[in-house]
Amino acid sequence: MDEILNLTPSQMAGASFDCSCGKRHEVVIRKMVMGRNAVHQLPEIISEFGNGEVLVVADSNTKKVFGEKAAKSLEDEGFRTRLFVYEGQCALVPDERAVGRLLTETGKDTSLILAVGSGTLNDLARYISSRTGIPYVIVCTAPSMDGYASVVSPLIIEGFKKTFEAVYPYAIVADLDILKTSPPDMVKAGFGDIIGKMTALADWDLSRRLNGEYYCKTSVQLVRNALDKCISNAAGMMKYEDEAILSLTEALIFSGIAIGLVGNSRPASGAEHHLAHYWEMEALSHGKEHPLHGNSVGVGSVVVAMLYQFMKDWLPDGFDVPDPSYIKNLLESAGACSSPASLGIDRVVFRNSIIHAMKIRPRYTVFHLIKDKGLLEKFADELTDGFYGKMKV
Ligand SMILES: [Zn+2]
Ligand SMILES: [Zn+2]
Repeated sequence: MDEILNLTPSQMAGASFDCSCGKRHEVVIRKMVMGRNAVHQLPEIISEFGNGEVLVVADSNTKKVFGEKAAKSLEDEGFRTRLFVYEGQCALVPDERAVGRLLTETGKDTSLILAVGSGTLNDLARYISSRTGIPYVIVCTAPSMDGYASVVSPLIIEGFKKTFEAVYPYAIVADLDILKTSPPDMVKAGFGDIIGKMTALADWDLSRRLNGEYYCKTSVQLVRNALDKCISNAAGMMKYEDEAILSLTEALIFSGIAIGLVGNSRPASGAEHHLAHYWEMEALSHGKEHPLHGNSVGVGSVVVAMLYQFMKDWLPDGFDVPDPSYIKNLLESAGACSSPASLGIDRVVFRNSIIHAMKIRPRYTVFHLIKDKGLLEKFADELTDGFYGKMKV
């Protein structure tokens, strides 16, 4: 039953198996193609959608990277295509306007939405796909986050981030040459999102041991294997080495798949994500720009690992305690942010985030253990002094 761990992403697509955790798992995504020249397989991947119009969606950057080319080459292959580009200088925001705009571009005979992009475009296409029933395919343009294989769409509605149920893509296409055109900040962010799995998995293990929460060893191993591969390529990330970019992309896709296997984001998201969401919401509520999700997650993971160290004596026997210096060094070796100040988070917001991040969602993490021991305020002060220096009185 653990054969799934030896499969490549393309072999894993559509797989289903009985797991040692007692559940039957299924990878709902039908096709996953990764590597050099992956996009050459697009006509074959989408062959069953030739009966209608293929709506290619891009933004002003991704249209140059591959959007225009996708529309043209599919047209040459006999598909009827239409290109819709979100134009604009500013970063695309997945809000009501963007949702409505994409909806108006879908027609009665749209057979497929082909999104060329990363986080935001994927979220928009996924949402519209779920509401219209038109399948979507994502051509990844950056290894920047683990939402490609996800099933939810975080959107900004009336200024607030809200997560909506959506659907899986029909296919994920990750072409090495396209991924290598992504800016360094997006690679660093993707790496941060993956490094965050170290504390996410620790939180899940903690809850399993303390609360008897459901736990799937196969999903954990799937994420861990991908994480290890990524870690061994950390130094190659900023050199854009093939192996490094591929291992990062694979890890991001596998972590999304693990979420799908389990049915919630436990294998990929813990206290480090709660911190990242807190910082993001704080910035949004003040109309400020916030760091890319994965950069916040990486830093969140350093912070959470420090909290685990503080709690060492209260952890169950044999618990694999995350090591903050190891995580910090890994982030730095890939050129990623490793402290809250480097993300632009100020002292007060940071302290508040330690105390309140656990309210982001009802999921047991090390924050709950700390709160139960009455140590939350104390550790918030210690961490804040540690990162920002002692306040002068
Ligand atoms: Zn994430
Ligand atoms: Zn399982």
